[in-house]
Amino acid sequence: MIDVIIVGAGPAGATAALYAQKLNLNCILLDKAVFPRDKICGDALSGKSVRIMRELGLLDDVEKLEGSEINRITFGSPNNKQFDIHLKGTKNKNHITKGFVIPRKIFDNYMFDKAASVTETRQGFTVQDLILENDHVVGIVGKNKNGNVEEFRAPIVMGCDGSNSIIARKLGLYEMDMENTSVAVRCYYEGVKDLTDQIELHYVKEVNPGYFWLFPAGEGRANIGIGLSKSDMKKEKRTLRQIMDEVTQSDYFKERFADAKQLERPVGWNLPLGSSHRKNYGNGFMLLGDAAGLVDPFTGEGIGNAMVSGQYAMEVAAKSKLSGDYSKHAFAEYDELLWGEVGKELRTSTKLQSLARSKFLLNFVINRAARNEEVQNIISGMLSNEIPKDELNGPLFYLKILFS
Ligand SMILES: Cc1cc2nc3c(=O)[nH]c(=O)nc-3n(C[C@H](O)[C@H](O)[C@H](O)COP(=O)(O)OP(=O)(O)OC[C@H]3O[C@@H](n4cnc5c(N)ncnc54)[C@H](O)[C@@H]3O)c2cc1C
Repeated sequence: MIDVIIVGAGPAGATAALYAQKLNLNCILLDKAVFPRDKICGDALSGKSVRIMRELGLLDDVEKLEGSEINRITFGSPNNKQFDIHLKGTKNKNHITKGFVIPRKIFDNYMFDKAASVTETRQGFTVQDLILENDHVVGIVGKNKNGNVEEFRAPIVMGCDGSNSIIARKLGLYEMDMENTSVAVRCYYEGVKDLTDQIELHYVKEVNPGYFWLFPAGEGRANIGIGLSKSDMKKEKRTLRQIMDEVTQSDYFKERFADAKQLERPVGWNLPLGSSHRKNYGNGFMLLGDAAGLVDPFTGEGIGNAMVSGQYAMEVAAKSKLSGDYSKHAFAEYDELLWGEVGKELRTSTKLQSLARSKFLLNFVINRAARNEEVQNIISGMLSNEIPKDELNGPLFYLKILFS
């Protein structure tokens, strides 16, 4: 008998499957893709992903995958000042000490293989509908790789099927609301100069509010991209590809791109932001990762939160198996655990996202940080959640920065 049907084998689904094995739950993991498959992404894996990989005993393997280890984060301002946060040098144990950039084609394939070694899987299986009985989700219907309709039943269905989740849509929980969704394009390059062990997020004047990222993707390649909120994109006359060209050809960046070559046509995808707290559970189901809208609104990171949601969802599933209660009342704990961990950070990032609308404030904060280590520590503390979010509302935050 299957305890949990996991729909989608990205970071959320694969992590859920790996925790299921630890908790003695019997799962089936379904994905419409056949691995290895690409996923449009910046490919950056930060603190939370590293924590989960360590907990699952995967870190040694992941360190050997093709990609780059990250020891610094660079933030750049609209007037092209920048400062670095050094991850290794941080004294606080809650601060992240390293990260990775690993192309998703490689990382997700590794995670899928790990999950497949402990869980029954079906690749090339497209979930098309839910089976509902007495107001409970009790299974799914889909098409297998041979084109035949097949159904699976279980007391829990986990929707780990990304930003366009069929599970969320079938339950009427899919919200493509412009205010809480970003859109971004990614392009792999080779020949970009000065790639080291840092990921760079530049809040450039060519795309305000929004950001330009430049990540070392390993093997001399770079993962480059531009992200912007959907509502701001609607007002834009330029396409994201055009903006990317403008940025890479700007006075500030053109030297680094002088010998660079695009390895693909820039490709875009949506980022469902955690700036709104979406409903993520109900009778017989939980939504995880992008399907639950957990992407950080300031940095665009979603892999870490997707993995964290995989852990909590399975812990709650294990309790339900013991109690026999698969109702929304039992699954409310999933939402409490998940938002208890990621909520504060997402709210802080939502505030930072609004701060980033002002070029003046971005220049002010980043220029100060470029000159002052104390300000760098404040920002580092803020990103790791040690500075209360309320401070971002008031003058205290700016005074701290001004007088540091
Ligand atoms: C341009 C861009 C850049 C980004 N950069 C970063 C970054 O640098 N770092 C970071 O942490 N995050 C980044 N993100 C966010 C990150 O990609 C997502 O948050 C993350 O992939 C979420 O993982 P997931 O497992 O929830 O969903 P996904 O990774 O989207 O996986 C969903 C899976 O479900 C499968 N699926 C979908 N529908 C069905 C169906 N009907 N039946 C069966 N299977 C189905 C898909 O094939 C897929 O394998 C970026 C996003 C974008 C768009």
